[in-house]
Amino acid sequence: MYDTLEHYQLDELHLRNDAKTGLKAIIAIHNTSRGPALGGCRFLPYHSDDHALLDAARLARGMSYKAALAGLPQGGGKSVILKPPGDFDAKALFTCFGEFIESLNGRYITAIDSGTSNQEMDWIAQKTRYVTSTSQAGDPSPYTALGVFQGIKACVEKKLKRKDLQGLRVTIQGVGHVGYALGKLLAKEGAELIVADLNKSAVTRAMNECASACVDPNQIHAVECEVFAPCGLSGPINENTIEELQCQIIAGSANVQLTHHELGEMLHDQGILYAPDYVINAGGLIYASLNHSGKKRDYINAQVKNIHRTLESIFEESATSNCPPSEVADKKAQALLVTPMHAAA
Ligand code: NAD
Repeated sequence: MYDTLEHYQLDELHLRNDAKTGLKAIIAIHNTSRGPALGGCRFLPYHSDDHALLDAARLARGMSYKAALAGLPQGGGKSVILKPPGDFDAKALFTCFGEFIESLNGRYITAIDSGTSNQEMDWIAQKTRYVTSTSQAGDPSPYTALGVFQGIKACVEKKLKRKDLQGLRVTIQGVGHVGYALGKLLAKEGAELIVADLNKSAVTRAMNECASACVDPNQIHAVECEVFAPCGLSGPINENTIEELQCQIIAGSANVQLTHHELGEMLHDQGILYAPDYVINAGGLIYASLNHSGKKRDYINAQVKNIHRTLESIFEESATSNCPPSEVADKKAQALLVTPMHAAA
């Protein structure tokens, strides 16, 4: 366990086992030098406790990096609840999880992630105020989509030397909450969309409203296009898919898009411009953080649109140093974590 903590430089790990409700939960806090750790709660069946711990640790570090580069006064954390096999009382389980969060006195603030929705956040909110994405707070996905849209524009300006998206071929892997909202924004600016999803009704909705073609989910990464936007699950760029890519830009919302670090360098060598995932998909976090602290919509939108500028500066540094954008982003984030906000001001 301590190897994992050390590998991901995790500051804290909190565990709760509640026999009455069946709650088995992990809260991983990576770093709080910039503020309380904010990050989603996953509710999934895990093969083992080790898998659950690894997921929480890996994602918590990503949240620290994401918050730092988005300029937010937040640290990074993530929680994982091991989904019990068989029947269980979801409301009792999530209210118990709310008590667990409350016991940390605000060091960790939770949000929606895979397997949770506004409903679960509402149950958590019965026990703690350290929760975002309740039904009252709303869905962060449109803000994530807006950030990815801005990020795609920054990539197109850098790589293709053009400001408009008219006729640009964009492939979207996964047209769920974010991918669908992104598709609508892109179509409005004249992009030609090719989509894929494991869920047929999601494909039908996209075809009816914004896409011009759909392909097999196993083939979407290999379609010739200017922009490939992974908006499904983690790991779309791996040892197998990297050889088959026919895009010039990778810019999407999925978390942990590269299965390992060296793939960032390989993309760079192949001349594919990669927008680091935790930079381009920060819109939802920006919304969750700023909405939680009572900021107005206009201000939040402006901060989300700043993702364009953040990526521009990463690409500039990447070009100057001939270092992959993924590495430039990691270094920038690490430097921001070493220097707490009040010390940097
Ligand atoms: P979602 O579950 O609403 O949509 C994901 C869609 O991808 C689903 O329709 C699913 O069927 C599809 N999918 C999964 N694997 C696929 C595959 N291999 N090929 C094709 N389709 C596939 O999730 P979402 O909220 O839209 O999030 C999408 C991604 O963006 C996730 O990786 C998520 O972690 C990340 N993300 C989301 C937000 C947010 O605000 N929702 C914020 C940051 C990051």
